[in-house]
Amino acid sequence: MSRVIGIDLGTTNSCVAVVDGGKPVVIPNTGGYKTSPSMFAISQDGKRLVGHLAKRQAVTNARNTVFASKRLIGRRFDSPELARAVDLFPYQIAEGPDGDARIVAADKTFSCSEIAGIILREMKRVAEEYLGEPISDAVITVPAYFNDTQRQSTKDAGKIAGLEVLRIINEPTAAALTYGLGHREEQKIAVYDLGGGTFDISVLDLADGVVEVMSTAGNTFLGGEDFDRRIVEHILEEFNKAEGIDLRDDLMALQRLKDAAEKAKCDLSSLNVTEINLPFIANDATGARHLNLELTRETLEDLVSDIVNQTMKSVEQCVSDAGMKAEDIDHVVLVGGQTRTPLVQQAVTRFFGKPPHRGVNPDEVVAVGAAIQGNLLTSGDRDLLLLDVTPLSLGIATFDGHFASLISRNTTVPVRKAHQFTTTRDDQSAVKIRVLQGESENADDNHLLGEFVLSDIPKAPKGEPEIEVAFDIDANGIVNVSASDVASGREQSITVKTTGTLSEDEIEQIIAENANVPFPGDS
Ligand code: AMP
Repeated sequence: MSRVIGIDLGTTNSCVAVVDGGKPVVIPNTGGYKTSPSMFAISQDGKRLVGHLAKRQAVTNARNTVFASKRLIGRRFDSPELARAVDLFPYQIAEGPDGDARIVAADKTFSCSEIAGIILREMKRVAEEYLGEPISDAVITVPAYFNDTQRQSTKDAGKIAGLEVLRIINEPTAAALTYGLGHREEQKIAVYDLGGGTFDISVLDLADGVVEVMSTAGNTFLGGEDFDRRIVEHILEEFNKAEGIDLRDDLMALQRLKDAAEKAKCDLSSLNVTEINLPFIANDATGARHLNLELTRETLEDLVSDIVNQTMKSVEQCVSDAGMKAEDIDHVVLVGGQTRTPLVQQAVTRFFGKPPHRGVNPDEVVAVGAAIQGNLLTSGDRDLLLLDVTPLSLGIATFDGHFASLISRNTTVPVRKAHQFTTTRDDQSAVKIRVLQGESENADDNHLLGEFVLSDIPKAPKGEPEIEVAFDIDANGIVNVSASDVASGREQSITVKTTGTLSEDEIEQIIAENANVPFPGDS
């Protein structure tokens, strides 16, 4: 059997690792980089570019360069988060046939799974080149707070990349596996994971080879991109004040501003003040204008403090859901590049009353954990057992629009819960069930996973048929539904219409379309 790779499919960067000779190794690409930008582009001469190659040409080809697409995966085109952030994306976002968000580059519309598949295929290629053997199996990580649609879409992306996805695991859990490898003693840890686009917090119990997630919370639309955006808005305002020029509609200027904002943010993790210099940023009748601005750490902290506070609310909820207090946590592990910002570290230190553990590399720890899990799944090693939870409650919509929860959040997976349904009219032959994930009592405020139609119900007076529907959440956090007739025990036919994910046919079609599209290798 070939080796299993672990892939951290990040919003900003992706990373691939493998267990080699019993030790996890982060795999560099041919250019020596251990992470690759999660970017895809179609160049002006029609070439498809990925990773560093895509990033390097972003300024001059902003419209056709896709970044942070993980923020869109499994999300509806009309979702409120997207409406708030849509002007952040220089590329065009379109509505898919199912109401899902899709991405347009060089006049071609891509599903978000296809873009993620292209990035995964690149990570697979990096691993194959390094290991000198074909790779077919992978463990892929997702934010712990991803819902079923987002997980399913990530799994589809793996298929599109030509990978057998052995397991989808949660990013903070993967980080805990890496951390747990070097710390066998019993302890409670919190993993605070703030990446480019998502935030997760998990509380775990590590004891004698068992890694058990107690609770998780987060926000799948909050991360470093939001920090950058605040800085960009600040610069736009300052430039407009000084020069009377609004740069908002200038795509190339905006892309340069975005890059400069991110760089300034990173500088301010170690410096107290930095300069943003963008010569020839605009032109008007009086000639070229240059942007020179000083940004202090204090200003940055003012711009983003509410975002950091928002993450701390989830931290409070997560610790309380685990039935613990801040002081019960022995160690705090930081994951994700955005945790390098001192304000984030200060907020975490203040809450837990202790500084975070510094022994893991926040950019690589997740991919390493995925590789460890891949190795565990295939080597038959029973030394380490991983128990994870479902981040969101699963339930159904009742006839009066309420949400009836069947499996509550933070239940250990895999889990199975059965519920009995019947008819409300005489001779009714079909029953429609809407399955949702979320925490609101109001069904419509939760995320609709799909509609399940029980059909071919034998004729009977209302209320008589008893149909048992079983809801399974597997170890990937993915939901499966099956139904049986209670009296006969026969399987009841059920049509599953999941919203926002690709059908098998669509996946096959994308694979066939991509089979002959050349990609220059990244470096
Ligand atoms: P990740 O998704 O873990 O790769 O995290 C990427 C995010 O971390 C991006 O928003 C980066 O701008 C941010 N980041 C990387 N390095 C630093 C740094 N030194 N200081 C602040 N943020 C950083």
